[in-house]
Amino acid sequence: MTFVIGAACVDVMDRACVEECPVDCIYTGDRMAYIQPAECVDCGACEPVCPVEAIHLDSEIPAGQEQFVAENARFFAEPLPGRDAALGSPGGAAAVGEIGADTAFVAAYRS
Ligand code: SF4
Ligand code: SF4
Repeated sequence: MTFVIGAACVDVMDRACVEECPVDCIYTGDRMAYIQPAECVDCGACEPVCPVEAIHLDSEIPAGQEQFVAENARFFAEPLPGRDAALGSPGGAAAVGEIGADTAFVAAYRS
């Protein structure tokens, strides 16, 4: 079980959740933010601050957004388009900075 970011973040990405996360495991792509599943400690601090209610427990992702559970993991587990290596578990978003890319699914996502 972990928290994941769903479709509502796409093209909003106001970063309010990034400020709340005590372990700095919310990373910013181009169109949305992603939670590193291995770094998230499931504290829930990010969930109530999202203005568009995009953050959910993976087991409670709204119907029709199930793919976003996989995309949060894929963002770290596989090389992003145009990159040679996967991000993996960087251990903190602040040190990594803006990533500026999305998974292929999110890059092409239309609500
Ligand atoms: S607070 Fe919500 S909309 Fe803003 S970056 Fe986080 S998940 Fe996305
Ligand atoms: S649940 Fe807690 S640890 Fe996980 S992303 Fe949200 S604020 Fe960070």
